This record gives sequence, structure tokens and C-alpha cells, in this order.
Amino acid sequence: MNVADSQRVASALERLGYCDTRHAEEADVIILNTCVVRQSAEDKAYGRLQSLRPLKANRPELVINLMGCLVGVKGSERLQKRFPFVDVFSPPSDPAPLVAYLTQGESRSLEQHETERRFSWMDEELSSESPALLLPLHERGHIVSAHVPIVLGCSHACTFCIIPYRRGVERSRHVGEILAEVRSLVAQGVKEITFLGQIVDRYGKDVPDGPNLSDLLRQAQAVEGLERIRFLTSHPNWMTDELLDTVAELPKVMPHIEVPVQAGDDEVLENMKRGYTAEDYRRLVEKIRRRLGGGSLGVSIATDVIVGFPGETEAQFQHTYDLLAELKLDVAHLARYSVRPGTVAARRMEDDVSNEEKMRRFRTLEDLQEQIATQINARYLHQTVPVLFEEKVKQRWRGRTDTNKLVFVEAQHSLAGQVLPVRIEWTGPWSMLGSLQSVSEL
Ligand code: SF4
Repeated sequence: MNVADSQRVASALERLGYCDTRHAEEADVIILNTCVVRQSAEDKAYGRLQSLRPLKANRPELVINLMGCLVGVKGSERLQKRFPFVDVFSPPSDPAPLVAYLTQGESRSLEQHETERRFSWMDEELSSESPALLLPLHERGHIVSAHVPIVLGCSHACTFCIIPYRRGVERSRHVGEILAEVRSLVAQGVKEITFLGQIVDRYGKDVPDGPNLSDLLRQAQAVEGLERIRFLTSHPNWMTDELLDTVAELPKVMPHIEVPVQAGDDEVLENMKRGYTAEDYRRLVEKIRRRLGGGSLGVSIATDVIVGFPGETEAQFQHTYDLLAELKLDVAHLARYSVRPGTVAARRMEDDVSNEEKMRRFRTLEDLQEQIATQINARYLHQTVPVLFEEKVKQRWRGRTDTNKLVFVEAQHSLAGQVLPVRIEWTGPWSMLGSLQSVSEL
């Protein structure tokens, strides 16, 4: 989400005549786009912000913009007092405060433009040439895979999570606006789109008679030049049969599902207010595999897990371990619980698992997942699979299978943006090596 937000701001600034620089010392405007999903991310953001103070002291005309979840959606009075050298505070996903600041005299016409845009969204007539949909100049023609937010905010109330407080209530973007953005990105060379939402499968549920994610996927499937479509993140309670059938039916929608479990113990799940049990999750994984597992390598499933949630006992942690060992998912994004001030967990629960114990549980799951991923990826050995190539990293071209596995091949010429057959010759837990085959192999 933050990568997509940063692209949006960069693009907005380019339309004002700015260009990017790698060096903070050369910049006229510095935007710090922040994440606070964990304490370490928040600490990093504060540290980086403090490091900008001397630059502003030397050059008072430098504009510093603090953006994203650190600012949140509820205003920035406290931050303004603490960081008086920051010129502009912007909520997540919104370049407007910075643009307004930089174009003070033009803000009226900006407002008019915004009103016109709103009307055109309602009419589904947002032009694909709209400059609001352009990638930053340095990425145009070079980016193969792009993210498109479709649901902003979240109205769920997981007790550990700060996102609803920072990104606000759930709001679905208009289907016409999303498709215009997809078409525009494709016209700029993008081949793969990932639709984003905190609960992406709730797309449209906040709008009476609104479209759902299946409807949106069908319309995106029809966009010429677009090769692949993905979406994340799903929630176990909102993954419908209709959605799974749509993924199975549409060839451009990739067989890869990101659906966090967070814990494998029912009491911990209840304390997290996730709204499902370990058995519900087990049944969901079975269903995903039954409905999408048709290809020779099946469907890939990624999950998120938090270890060391308040009150999590050794036995409860063991339930999470057992569930992951049983389900053998492709990827597990692991996190150690950290207190997020303002959340229900921070207010009502004691952070009573020590840092050492959190780290031990983290490492235990990491080792388990490494073994599982090694076994799953070994199934690709000597198979020929389609890979969409993104960029050259050192001497090798990097791409992804339809199941989102990372593949590297050696090639002298550019492979960027092409879907090519690759015979897999080595597999490890995190990536694979292969060689290009002729297109008839697919
Ligand atoms: S579903 Fe829960 S974890 Fe995900 S963003 Fe919403 S509140 Fe946070």
C-alpha cells in the first residue's frame, strides 16, 4: 500500500514539474512516507525524521512532508508540536495536502479539478489518459508489476491492529476509476496488476448494490495487454466460493492467495478478534486447494502469523506450529507481536511474552517454514513453467511463476515484461534457478 501511495505522490509532483533525486541534500521537497504497523517501523520513521532536521536548518526553503500512517486520518496536532520543522502533514494515500502546499495559489483550481474528477468517477468516464494515473517518469516503461489500491482503510477491529485508526474506515474505490488506472498503467508498460485492500475480498461491500471483487476481476480480465492479475490481502471470513470460482475461471488471475491466519489457537484468535477458528481456517485452505489446485503445481497460499500475542502460552503457540506443519502453506509472513498504542490490545492486554521468547517462537516457525517451502519448491524441479520477467538483478533476470515463486535465469537480452517458459533446474526455499525454453514448451 505504501509503495502504491509513494508512486501516487511522485507522479503528482512530476505533474508540478519536479523530478526525483537520490540525495536528500539535493532535494527541494522531501516526503517521508511512514508505516507504523510495528514499533520498529515507527521508531525508524522518527529516527529518519530527526535526521532531516539539520537539512531544514541549513535550507529553510526545503519543504518536508510527513505522510502516511504516522500521521493517520485524525489530524496531526501532536506531531506538529513535536516536529515544528515539518511543513506538511498528510494522511495515507493522499498527495493533496502536499500538492496544495506547493501550489498555494493554484489550490482553488485544484479543488475544481477534484470536483470534476469526482463527477467523472460517478459516470465511469475517467479517461485512461488522465495525468492522475501516470507512473512517476523514472518508472514509466520500466515497471512490469504495479499495485492498485481498490479498498482503502479497514472497518474490522482486530485487537492488535492500528490500521483502522490510521487509514480510516473501509472505502471501496469506484470500479470505473480502478479500471481507468489499470488501462493507464498497461499503456505505460505494466503487465501485472495487484489489487490491494486490507480485506481485499470485501471490495464493494461498503457500497449499496456495489460490484464485488469477482465483478472487478472479470472487467480487469478484459483489459487488453494486461497479462496477470493478483489481489491481496484476503480475510478468511470473506473469501467466497464465487471469488474462488472466478479465480479458477479467469486465465489472467493467478492461482496465488494471501490469506492470513495470524494464530492457530482458538483462544488467541478470539483475543485477537479475528472472527474464525483454526478449524475454519483449515477448511478454507482445503477448499482453496480443491477449487484452485487443478494445475500440475496447484495453487500457492501465503499466510501471516503473529507470535507472542498477549497471553499466548507455550501450548497455544504449539497449536500455531502444528497448524502450519499440517497445512504446509507456501509462504508464512512472520511477525513478533509489538504493542501499537491506541489499539484494544494495548489498552486491555498485558504484553507479557518476553522479547527473548517471542524471538524463540519466531525462529521456531521460521525453521519450520523453511523446511516446508523447500519441499514445496522441490516439486518444481525439472518442470517447465511460465515466468513473467521483471528486471535484471546483477547477472540474472528475475521473474515470478503464476504461483508467485521467484525465478532467476541467465540471459543476455532483455526479458522485461515477457512471459516465457522456464525449465527449473535448482530449487531452494526462497527462489529457483532455471533456463529459458522455446515458447512452444508452454
Ligand atoms: S482485517 Fe484486522 S489486521 Fe487486517 S487491517 Fe483490518 S483490523 Fe488490521
